[in-house]
Amino acid sequence: MKKIGILGGTFDPVHYGHIALAEDAVREAGLHEVVMIPARIQPFKQDREYASGEDRFNMLALAAGKDDHITVSKYELQQKSISYTYLTLRHMQEFYGKDTRLYFITGTDSFLKIDTWMNAEELLNNYSYVIGTRPGYRQDEYQEALRRITSAYGTEVISMNKTELDISATQIRQMVAEGKPINDLVPPEVERYIREHGLYRT
Ligand code: ATP
Repeated sequence: MKKIGILGGTFDPVHYGHIALAEDAVREAGLHEVVMIPARIQPFKQDREYASGEDRFNMLALAAGKDDHITVSKYELQQKSISYTYLTLRHMQEFYGKDTRLYFITGTDSFLKIDTWMNAEELLNNYSYVIGTRPGYRQDEYQEALRRITSAYGTEVISMNKTELDISATQIRQMVAEGKPINDLVPPEVERYIREHGLYRT
């Protein structure tokens, strides 16, 4: 059985927290590959201004360029509709075929809200999960969600216990707007892209 990881997000911009999450998932869950998929319109962030899909994709491609385990997919950017995870996973399962098990990778913050996602039941019944800890969540809240979900759906959930990286894209956009350096937070190629394209300045 082939194991493919799927890591969705807005990646506005991609940062070391995302890359570490993908690489940890490869090691911990024995994945063959992780596909990072930037969302066109993210259901919970519809009211927000993004860098363009093209810029977010380009930054991901630069960040993943040297990594043998990560590929970047344009699938959601090419859809007309809101980027619902269940639609993307349906498509990916069809693309990779029945011999592939899909592992959806998220940070704890996203996983805690998964019950509220569109077609949560389908998501939790059909796919496995790899969860990376992220600062700012409560361990007891996570354990409670995990118990509820695994007992209701029998979902396979791999919880990774890794060093937490306190990085968010929100914080990076703010720092760029304030003219602060972001070298410790994103790969050098991404830092250069943001600078050369004048992203997030206001
Ligand atoms: P924003 O600050 O704009 O909301 P973000 O930094 O949370 O963005 P997303 O693109 O929303 O980034 O995240 C995509 C996925 O990566 C989510 O599952 C999220 O939980 C996870 N993730 C993001 N940053 C980290 C981090 N520092 N550690 C672990 N997981 C992370």
